[in-house]
Amino acid sequence: MLTLDVSDLQMHFPGLAAPVLAIERFHLPAGGQLAITGASGSGKSTFVNAITGLENVTHGKVSWNGTDITRLSSGQRDAFRARNIGLVMQDFHLFPGLSAFDNVVLPVRLARRLTAGERERALTLLAATGIDRVSQKIETLSRGEMQRVAVARALLQRPGVIVADEPTASLDRNAGNEVAELLLRLSAEQGTTLVVVTHDAFLAERLGRRICLASGRVDEDSGESAAQ
Ligand code: ADP
Ligand code: MG
Repeated sequence: MLTLDVSDLQMHFPGLAAPVLAIERFHLPAGGQLAITGASGSGKSTFVNAITGLENVTHGKVSWNGTDITRLSSGQRDAFRARNIGLVMQDFHLFPGLSAFDNVVLPVRLARRLTAGERERALTLLAATGIDRVSQKIETLSRGEMQRVAVARALLQRPGVIVADEPTASLDRNAGNEVAELLLRLSAEQGTTLVVVTHDAFLAERLGRRICLASGRVDEDSGESAAQ
């Protein structure tokens, strides 16, 4: 489980006068569950990209268990992300032509040889996500099943945190609810911190804490404060 501490975080993009993200202080305890809501363009994905190190921040600190990832080289940051952060994206980021199983183990296989333990764990996670056709090509599965495969992939390397950016937004309501249930259940079972960007009220209400972004700032009207 990872603790997240953000301080004085700013993201600027060239050509834009105001920062797209400006967050003074934010703390999420280990095992905490956070929902991030906010209108389109409010900075939710920019926040996700900043805390996962997918994008360089302009200013400020992003610390996971005390490791400030903004101070790491890009190679160190990629390694940190691979080891510690399980990512789930709106459009799945799966590889067509590969089976469900091969998609789950691909990040490991790109880095090194898969261990027998990892092979077992991949199968166990696929079973836990309700995928039984593990050898079938990913594109033959339903969209809900695809996202469940992505959740299994995110958990394979026992990350300390799952970060999901609108994981149910491109699914119908039933499939979305299944994915939401799965993220909540598996992150609790596996003991991971959970950060979810979502417009899905069903999911947001069931996460421990909720913040709303507006123009890159934590919206005070949401009744929540950025600092704890
Ligand atoms: P959300 O995920 O809440 O819809 P984003 O974080 O994607 O919002 O975007 C926040 C704002 O930052 C938007 O105005 C968007 O156009 C702008 N933005 C995002 N990425 C870039 C970029 N690479 N360059 C310039 N502007 C960007
Ligand atoms: Mg977004």
